[in-house]
Amino acid sequence: MRVAVVTVGDELLSGDTVNTNAAWLCEQLTDRGVDVARVTTIPDDVGEIARVVNEYRAEYDAVLVTGGLGPTHDDVTMEGVAAAVGRDVEPHDAAHEWLTEEGGYAAADLVDGTTHLPAGARMLPNEAGVAPGAVVESIYVLPGVPEEMKAMFEHVAEEFAGEETHTAVVAVDEPESELVDRLADLQERFDVAVGSYPGDAVRVKLIATDEGELAAATEWLEARVELVDEDVATENASSE
Ligand code: ATP
Ligand code: MG
Repeated sequence: MRVAVVTVGDELLSGDTVNTNAAWLCEQLTDRGVDVARVTTIPDDVGEIARVVNEYRAEYDAVLVTGGLGPTHDDVTMEGVAAAVGRDVEPHDAAHEWLTEEGGYAAADLVDGTTHLPAGARMLPNEAGVAPGAVVESIYVLPGVPEEMKAMFEHVAEEFAGEETHTAVVAVDEPESELVDRLADLQERFDVAVGSYPGDAVRVKLIATDEGELAAATEWLEARVELVDEDVATENASSE
């Protein structure tokens, strides 16, 4: 399963808000074996949202959109998503029912537009806030507030699945540039994906669908590199 993550919000583009939603969603999806093919951040603009979401729904198995759900003038995500699939935004009975029956809101207290979703969408209740989310075709629309987004993702998490993968990390005490040949060799010999992430040490990450293959590849690499002395590494980390 290949998906795209779209985070919506002017505050993300200006740097006022750090995009923790994207990182959290990518981690959740990757852990489930889903291939996250794109992460894109766009402004609170109906046309931009419609264009990007429409392009991605054609390209990927699902699109996850977060941010801009409230009823205020700057929250236009539902409109943009509705436009992407050629539908109107309209009051949603299930959203109204959930908010007044389970959410504890009096109908008169609901700000106009709170229950408006793309026509025919499946409503996702907001257990940690007010504005409901929605699923329309292969598009999942979640709130921007991180706690609300996480709670709502749990409702649909089971709908995201891919091939289970296994991961190992080898911490190497050599310059990354010197590892090039050995990492190429590793990839040729074993059915593993290899990433290398320089920092204090180079962390080589191996990912495989077969546990035995991962173990063999890890052992092969560990025998051919200068490993970080983990005691020293731990000491350094705890002294920061
Ligand atoms: P509300 O109904 O409260 O308006 P919303 O779904 O409309 O929620 P936004 O208006 O987009 O969400 O954002 C609400 C708050 O959530 C913002 O102030 C921002 O700090 C935070 N937020 C939004 N998007 C992200 C993100 N991608 N990563 C981290 N925080 C975010
Ligand atoms: Mg908002």
